Amino acid sequence: MIEVKNLVKKYGNHLAVDHLNFKIESGRIYGFLGPNGAGKSTTMNIMTGYLGATEGEVFINGHNILKEPEEAKKHIGYLPEQPPLYMDMTVREYLEFAAELKGIKKAKREDEITEVEKLVKIKDVEHRLIKNLSKGYRQRVGFAQAVLGFPEIIILDEPSVGLDPKQIIEIRELIRKLAKKHTVILSSHILAEVREVCDHILIISKGKLVASDTPENLERLLGEHNVVEIEAEASPSDIRLVLKNVPGIEKIDIKENGEETSTTFIHEKKGEDVRLSVFRAFASAGIPLLTLKASGTTLEDVFMELTQSDTVPEALAKKGGWVEVQTADSKSNSQEQGEEVQENAGDL
Ligand code: ADP
Ligand code: MG
Repeated sequence: MIEVKNLVKKYGNHLAVDHLNFKIESGRIYGFLGPNGAGKSTTMNIMTGYLGATEGEVFINGHNILKEPEEAKKHIGYLPEQPPLYMDMTVREYLEFAAELKGIKKAKREDEITEVEKLVKIKDVEHRLIKNLSKGYRQRVGFAQAVLGFPEIIILDEPSVGLDPKQIIEIRELIRKLAKKHTVILSSHILAEVREVCDHILIISKGKLVASDTPENLERLLGEHNVVEIEAEASPSDIRLVLKNVPGIEKIDIKENGEETSTTFIHEKKGEDVRLSVFRAFASAGIPLLTLKASGTTLEDVFMELTQSDTVPEALAKKGGWVEVQTADSKSNSQEQGEEVQENAGDL
């Protein structure tokens, strides 16, 4: 188990990690989710003893990572954002070096390296130089290094950044396989990724923990606040006019589809169903409605609200453990979120 208590990290005056508190229980897959710059890597670097904290403590199975680093580090394998690979070594040489650093006994080393190479499917490239491997294979070598010694907890910082879709699927399968025997913590700025593999999501925004729950519960918490999607043959200003007098609407987002039609997302107030009154309002205005459907709430909405809006949604704020999201800088934040870089690294 990992306990993070009141963790703070300042870079000069910049508060990168802002009083984080959470626990990681054994045997599950945890996702650290947050936009770029949220503080995920900083938190992981502190949890794994690579970086000192400004304030606060981290305990790995009861061992303080700063005061008893050797004892604490035995329980963790870490794949940092930039894997510490030596380009001029072969895969096998590098893993032997990593095994030695981890203090794996000489007698066990060869067998264990072979086992890990088979697990992450790099046995066939073990005699190749790391610099000649594709991005996907290098990531696997980094994985192998983290898994060596079979530590109880495996921490992976953005494990699929820069991989192509096929490699991402393979890395996901590997994470699921690892999770059968290990506790896995991974970070990502891509919601779909954590939703796909994680049992529990910790949403981090501007260094703060803004949500911590199962993907299902996060969706359900905002579920009371539904969205109705309509497509109408009218301009945004006409649509605004029609909807102005319909009760039960929290807010609307309108997107013009071209000359003729606009799509509107109507956010209902809690517990309201506005579909009938929306239909009637458009009918009496003589504007054709081409689509009208409940589009529900998705985890995407929860994530966007938590990491971009100025306040924590009411439904979430009521629940214990939520911390208010900082107000400043939500615009630059949303820009960062858009930059989902995916280099195409070719086949593995
Ligand atoms: P994430 O991994 O979520 O993208 P990081 O932990 O890398 O976020 O960064 C959190 C914040 O701290 C960012 O604003 C980043 O610019 C800043 N930061 C990270 N590392 C350093 C550093 N070594 N010196 C100064 N600022 C840093
Ligand atoms: Mg990072």
